[in-house]
Amino acid sequence: MEIQKVGVIGAGQMGNGIAHVMSLAGYDVIVNDLSEEALNAAVARIEKNMLRQVSKGQIEESDMAAALARIGTSLDVAALGQSDLVIESATENEEIKNKIIEGLIPHLPEHTIVTTNTSSISITRLASRTDRPEKFMGFHFMNPVPLMKLVELIRGIATDDETYQSCLKVVETLGKTAASAEDFPAFIVNRILVPMINEACYTLYEGVGNVASIDNAMKLGANHPMGPLELADFIGLDTCLAIMNVLHDGLGDTKYRPCPLLTKYVAAGWLGRKVKRGFYDYRGDVPMPSR
Ligand code: NAD
Repeated sequence: MEIQKVGVIGAGQMGNGIAHVMSLAGYDVIVNDLSEEALNAAVARIEKNMLRQVSKGQIEESDMAAALARIGTSLDVAALGQSDLVIESATENEEIKNKIIEGLIPHLPEHTIVTTNTSSISITRLASRTDRPEKFMGFHFMNPVPLMKLVELIRGIATDDETYQSCLKVVETLGKTAASAEDFPAFIVNRILVPMINEACYTLYEGVGNVASIDNAMKLGANHPMGPLELADFIGLDTCLAIMNVLHDGLGDTKYRPCPLLTKYVAAGWLGRKVKRGFYDYRGDVPMPSR
């Protein structure tokens, strides 16, 4: 099926990135969120990020103008009624996503593919809330969307091949690469990455190394561009903890138990970069280990 019109629900850090790459690739995009402020902030962010790409010579100014002209916004989910593909990228909360899906479906024609950018919630369970589980799947971008080359495509138990192939074609049009994953907790990237981060937390918790030695060890010893604790701060410690809980609950294996130190940082509100404190303190000029 030819996809031309794309609806994006949720204009946060991922939703605005998705609208950014979709519009640059030539799709008509409508972004939906709960407030005008969220929509305006998303459009302003997209413009700022595209200007950076222009200044680096990655895109032409005319590409930017054409892409911005392809982005519309609406507070009313009914405005997504003409979409060939919808990507739900609202807050990571199953109740919120269920309500969004239930409100959206009555506005959609039969052919519309519905997808979710969830990092951890079961695709099969979300699909069961729709009238089209065979046309529902996971479309999981990485953060930051304009820079990261991978999209995980996750089939629910009922997803049909035509839907998968249509989404694969969109990923290719974006110039990104797809990794196909089955619908099990945290899919591929987070199943591997977040337990490594959790293990780094245990390494700190048990005093094997301090923050600087753990991050340096993995940067210089394993050639990782960021140390695991620095990466945890970038992702958000609350998000890391939520994903560990999904793995622990969903797979029932004690190897996924969240590190008590990670839980303690989250309880303290030390959630990482977004609040300027996590494993590092970002309030000064140079990030310093917080303890
Ligand atoms: P965010 O908090 O930045 O944005 C979420 C947006 O959803 C907010 O603007 C909020 O107002 C909006 N929203 C909430 N309820 C809504 C509703 N009923 N209708 C419309 N909009 C609504 O979150 P984010 O980081 O952009 O994450 C969005 C999704 O992407 C989540 O499912 C998350 O798991 C997934 N994801 C996040 C990352 C990451 O690194 N942050 C990476 C991959 C996937």
